[in-house]
Amino acid sequence: MEEDLEFLGNIKRTVLVVDDEEINRVILGGILEDHYNVLFAENGEQALEIMESQGPLISLVLLDLMMPIMDGFEVIELMRVNVILKEIPIIVLTSEESAEIESLQKGAADFIKKPYDMPEKILARVKRIIALYENRKLIQSTERDELTGLLTKSYFFEYAAMQNKFHPERRMHALAVNMKHFHLYNELYGISSGESALRSLALGLTRYTEEKGGFACRSEGDNFYLYVPEQDSYEGLVETLYATFKKDPDVYTARIRVGVNCEDLEEEDNLEMFFERARMASTTIEENASETIAYYNSEMREKQLFEEKMIRDIANGIINDEIKVIYQPKYDITGEKPVLKGAEALVRWEHPEYGTIYPDSFISLFEENGMIQVLDTHVWRLAAQQVKEWKDRFGRSIPISVNVSRIDIQYEGLVSSLCSIAEESGIDYRDLHLEITESAYSDDTEKLIHIVEELRNKGFVIEMDDFGSGYSSLSMIATIPIDILKADMSFIMNMAESEKGLHMMELVIDIARFLKVPIIAEGVETKEQLDILKEKGCQMIQGYYFSKPVPSGEFEQFIKEG
Ligand code: C2E
Ligand code: CA
Ligand code: CA
Repeated sequence: MEEDLEFLGNIKRTVLVVDDEEINRVILGGILEDHYNVLFAENGEQALEIMESQGPLISLVLLDLMMPIMDGFEVIELMRVNVILKEIPIIVLTSEESAEIESLQKGAADFIKKPYDMPEKILARVKRIIALYENRKLIQSTERDELTGLLTKSYFFEYAAMQNKFHPERRMHALAVNMKHFHLYNELYGISSGESALRSLALGLTRYTEEKGGFACRSEGDNFYLYVPEQDSYEGLVETLYATFKKDPDVYTARIRVGVNCEDLEEEDNLEMFFERARMASTTIEENASETIAYYNSEMREKQLFEEKMIRDIANGIINDEIKVIYQPKYDITGEKPVLKGAEALVRWEHPEYGTIYPDSFISLFEENGMIQVLDTHVWRLAAQQVKEWKDRFGRSIPISVNVSRIDIQYEGLVSSLCSIAEESGIDYRDLHLEITESAYSDDTEKLIHIVEELRNKGFVIEMDDFGSGYSSLSMIATIPIDILKADMSFIMNMAESEKGLHMMELVIDIARFLKVPIIAEGVETKEQLDILKEKGCQMIQGYYFSKPVPSGEFEQFIKEG
């Protein structure tokens, strides 16, 4: 007896019948047509043409072996080497015993004997093979997520693809759900409580899909995906999730955010991208914000396209000299008159289509995809050459500080690369200052300390950038070898606003004193700020008050003025 396997969805599958004899095509067509869309081909070549255009839509091929032009064996072989066609099961139509075995060995799923006998038997075989293949595809990627019991990501995508194929009439929305501050949550309450929260979240999602239809998976970490029939609002989802948290004694104040992609799935979109957009939408909600749901919109789509373009264009941008470095002066304010002490090199991209692009739109993007190292090395080289040029023209060194991304520090060749840049440009190491953002120190403190020591031993000057914006403890900072502290701009901005702001700035200056290093205040825009800083004992200033970052030609004015 044939097993009674069921199809997912009730859409008509498509079956391709390949036989050179018309009578056979008519008989098979007659048997199948009530249950399937039937396509016909008279030989192997025609069959392949149809398969190439209909590819994934074909659920089964019924294939005669003996045919003119291209026979069945050749069709099987060609199908096996095509990524899409090899997924389609084949039943061979034959009257010869020996051919049966050979075709099964080559990869056919089953055979039907000629002349055709009972229609019910043929129908049963066709259905069984299609259902078997579809189910196997699902099972191959089965396995549940161990922690939550939800579907795994690969199974989820496989299943979603099948839903789309067999229920194209249903409008589905892609959702991404994740927890706000999940890292912090883990730190505060412990890993096992973090896991409880994830399990509880999964339970809430299951409840929701039981009610509304659809299904969910954990994609990674605290990020979950949900594929659900379109809803007018997802407030109900949020309520269900919080209600589930509330009932779970092991879950503390877990908070979530939801991204929704309700755009139409375009032909060329792949499903992972489709869900990734929902995740992108969720990340537009600040972790501290009170809102919970964000929708993917055209603005995000444009941002994404823009970012993809920048990634494509950056290599050419470097080659075509579109990457420009501009310089912002740093002044010593300890004496009566401010004295030029150096410059910070800041990158700009003169893009042929977009005009000037500022670092805020591409630095973190290139940090994510690793391009930052190439870009930064290029900027360092330009800055080093600038030091040399000014030294030759003006007879004095203007040290230039360059930004070193946290990603650059992971790069094994960092120290030797910086050394050779300095040597090739013919400058002293001490004239290249390296700005490393404070938060980089908490990534991998030991490694960073080690590298910073090595760089200092060579003679490079290390400036800790954005000081006060990270979470490093004072004791850690005390053990870090640095030469200069650069206070985060926010301290300067808040300083003149309130008593508290002023007090914070005083604390920062105290820390620098304690560490026995000079302090630079950046983002100084007004005379008032300058006067306060001077009075409190800050040594150096960088900011619009003196100058915005400017091209090297303009900067020379500052050198001439001294
Ligand atoms: P940052 O290192 O903190 O640089 C200071 C930023 O503050 C610069 O923005 C500068 O133009 C701006 N700024 C300077 N003075 C003032 C002021 O008085 N008021 C205000 N409101 N802003 C002021 P920019 O050039 O847009 O750079 C932004 C950030 O991008 C930099 O912050 C730095 O983290 C990063 N960056 C810039 N160039 C590079 C680079 O070549 N490599 C790497 N890895 N990062 C870079
Ligand atoms: Ca900087
Ligand atoms: Ca800074």
